[in-house]
Amino acid sequence: MSTERGTPTLREAWRSGAARLRQAGVEEADADAELLLLYLLGIGKTEWLRDMREPFPHHHLARWESLLAKREKGVPVQYVIGDQHFYGRAFEVTEAVLIPRPETELLAEAVLRLGDELFGGPGEGGPVVLDVGTGSGALSVTLAAERPEWRVIASDLSKDALAVAKRNAANLGVGDKVTFAQGDLLTPFLAGAGGDYPAIDILVSNPPYIPSADIEELQREVRDHEPRLALDGGEDGLNPYRAMAGQLSGLERLPRVVAWEVGAGQAEDVAGLLRSAAKWDDVYFVKDYAGIDRHVIAIRK
Ligand code: GLN
Repeated sequence: MSTERGTPTLREAWRSGAARLRQAGVEEADADAELLLLYLLGIGKTEWLRDMREPFPHHHLARWESLLAKREKGVPVQYVIGDQHFYGRAFEVTEAVLIPRPETELLAEAVLRLGDELFGGPGEGGPVVLDVGTGSGALSVTLAAERPEWRVIASDLSKDALAVAKRNAANLGVGDKVTFAQGDLLTPFLAGAGGDYPAIDILVSNPPYIPSADIEELQREVRDHEPRLALDGGEDGLNPYRAMAGQLSGLERLPRVVAWEVGAGQAEDVAGLLRSAAKWDDVYFVKDYAGIDRHVIAIRK
């Protein structure tokens, strides 16, 4: 196909879009412009590489402008296109939920491994897992999809987040495998709360852990667009851990595994909270890709 005079190619549209984003202070301007363009055109990487010299379809122009304008204003590219990949699956994200982060995949991986080790591998029945503050459902849906024999419960304080998590569970084929609960931290699951949930074997959570005063200093994408409820961990950022550690003894029985994501520099304090709340055979840390102690794991063998 020959290019009409004045009509840019897809590649040219990408380059000029990226230049606009860079001008607006977007760090990953090339990658983001590419994601937006592929989303706009509804094509994958293969077609993109094959067709970059084709003309940019004129009827897409208004939509292209509006996608770029949102990203220029600081809306994270995942909210603009409405999805983020996590553990090999595409999760819908809206501004009601935190965008799942790659380091949280390491928490999913650690829980899958521990579940197999302590409760038998695939085909042997499995643990009851509770994901507190499920947000998009990244952790709960991943665990349910990877281990169909596990029983997965997902909770969140936010009803809007739960609606997103439920859609993700349904779209990713585990709609009838994840049980959803609305409420604060462990409150719905305490003995006597009347929730009729089974005893929890594995308690996983990536709770809000940013100290309140630090929120203003976050990148604008995070500060202005990700839900405050998913970020703000109170004065020292440790409130959710403190509260959950305090609630552990109120569960029907103590989980055999607690696996929590923490902020940089919080691992020792969170381990201390867990050690004073219960007796464990082992409490250890899992590092993220940057070498930071990112996940605290406490187990009883
Ligand atoms: N559990 C979700 C995730 O890991 C949401 C976490 C949160 O909102 N703090 O992505």
